[in-house]
Amino acid sequence: PASYKGRKVVVLGLARSGVSVAKVFHQLGAQVTVNDKKERELCPEADELTALGISVLCGFHPDDLITEDTALLIKNPGIPYSASPVKRALELDVEVITEVEAAYWLSPAPIIGITGSNGKTTTTTWIGKLLEAAGKEPIVAGNIGRPLCEAALEAAEDQWIVAELSSFQLKGTDSFRPRVALLLNIAETHLDYHGNMDDYVNSKAKLFDNQTAEDVAVINWDDSECKALSDLLAAQLFPFSLYERLDTGVFIDPPYERHSEGLQASEAETASDSRQIVYNFGDGVKKTILPVDELGIPGRHNAANALAAIAACLAAGAQPERLEEPLRTFRGVEHRLEFVRERNGVNYYNDSKATNPAATAMSVRSLPAPVVLIAGGLDRGSDYMELVPLFRDRLKGLVVFGETREKLARAAELAGLSRVEIVEPSEDAESVLQQAVKQAAAMAEQGDTVLLSPACASWDMFASYEQRGRIFKDSAHTL
Ligand code: ADP
Repeated sequence: PASYKGRKVVVLGLARSGVSVAKVFHQLGAQVTVNDKKERELCPEADELTALGISVLCGFHPDDLITEDTALLIKNPGIPYSASPVKRALELDVEVITEVEAAYWLSPAPIIGITGSNGKTTTTTWIGKLLEAAGKEPIVAGNIGRPLCEAALEAAEDQWIVAELSSFQLKGTDSFRPRVALLLNIAETHLDYHGNMDDYVNSKAKLFDNQTAEDVAVINWDDSECKALSDLLAAQLFPFSLYERLDTGVFIDPPYERHSEGLQASEAETASDSRQIVYNFGDGVKKTILPVDELGIPGRHNAANALAAIAACLAAGAQPERLEEPLRTFRGVEHRLEFVRERNGVNYYNDSKATNPAATAMSVRSLPAPVVLIAGGLDRGSDYMELVPLFRDRLKGLVVFGETREKLARAAELAGLSRVEIVEPSEDAESVLQQAVKQAAAMAEQGDTVLLSPACASWDMFASYEQRGRIFKDSAHTL
């Protein structure tokens, strides 16, 4: 990065990572310009950067933003490659990167890079806790909140940076080389941005591109798209699996059986069993970590996240004995199948992050039945028919609200559910959710689960899924 001293560097997008990277290049002596299409009033960080002597242009993309003498364009991961300044930079052969690449240039510390379609935040957070317990003083950053550049500046050589990475961030990398690269899964999401599945898979695969035989690639052996990448790896492979005993890797013994049908509930999942999480370094010696039903968070997807986290930590040199306690005590991340309280023998869970039917299906399957489900929100055109078998098998009742309330009620009707409550809309979104919680509580009896897992985005009523989740939790606590 020192080679950018005195040269023109443009930062596109004034989010937290943009601010952080702009400051870094300014300190390095580059001539930094920051640009955002948003009006200046909507860019509270602008004044701080201007005070430092950084040029900040808001409200539009100037035509002459990118010129022949621009040395580098650092773009926010959410800005598409079709945006005019990015197109211009590519035409002029200006290097285009995301903040992740710059952070890699700056970091003296080794990086564990975590990507995948689902489970990134949970697994990244868990790895942070596990490495802490193993005495490694990790710094958790990236897509999860704290800009990676900040972490890179702060990190010492013997620390680990644990980085959650989106495919958008990875697409803008070039030399980025994580010491440990973890690919959780690949689902068909984000196709609107990437245009096609190949581009999406290629962005994820960039995580491994610069790795060498000194590095480790942790991949999901149960996901055929992930497994297919393994032939191309230069790194040592250390996979994980719920369904296979591996010669090298982390797995469950005896393995689970795969679901025969997509959304059907499996009896084995809720039954307590004696399956163990084990690892094998390839020396033929299989060692036990702990029984899978002692993990701190429920559900088979979280068992997969645990296997992935263990594999990454072992690859980073953590002692296996130190991992057991945080595997048991981790309670997950807020709004993701988060335990809220117990009341009259009923357990309440907040899963406000479940913003599509697939996520809700997984959560309903992960908790003990019968479940009283609270769902509904922004209508994006799903018909929710895929939830019908699951509603039939595992729900006692359904309480619906928001734009999708009628559609969800229809799915419940097809499932033959007799207890369905529709909360009618009101100006006061908070009171709608409070009422839904009261109705769910009235349906639930000792031993039941009450779950907010909306299967929809929140924006028809709330500012964010976080706000929705917090209102749910407050309502559950004040019952
Ligand atoms: P991300 O950061 O990738 O969005 P999170 O850890 O925030 O993932 O989890 C979001 C939701 O994704 C969870 O509430 C759960 O429904 C689902 N999920 C979590 N882990 C997995 C996994 N390993 N496989 C599939 N779905 C998962």
